Amino acid sequence: MREVDQYPCLEDDSEIRLREVIEGELEEARARAFSLIEAARHDDRGCLVTDTTKPRKVRFGGHQWDAYRFIYCVLNEQVAARDQVVRHRCHNRRCINPHHLELGSQADNKRDDWANWAYGVDPDFL
Ligand SMILES: [Zn+2]
Repeated sequence: MREVDQYPCLEDDSEIRLREVIEGELEEARARAFSLIEAARHDDRGCLVTDTTKPRKVRFGGHQWDAYRFIYCVLNEQVAARDQVVRHRCHNRRCINPHHLELGSQADNKRDDWANWAYGVDPDFL
């Protein structure tokens, strides 16, 4: 399932940094991820939302990531490739609840959006 030993040639800088973080600074990164989760607030759908209007950013190790992407990748020890997106099963981009996050392709993400417009929230999700 994990394919982190492969080094795909299409990596942007944030993937390289993320890999370094996961391989070398995992403990601090996890502590950082948990502190973001603790600081977030539960809403009535079980989302953990941050007090920001846009998806929260996090700075770690001299690089800036979307907090949800950072949290997903650090807690799952998985480096998302450039053509992969961290998806929100709950369709709330401000949510950082690791249980609501899932790795997929951009095509999956579009399909989620279409399903959401057509049917409301993914029935498997709730
Ligand atoms: Zn959520």
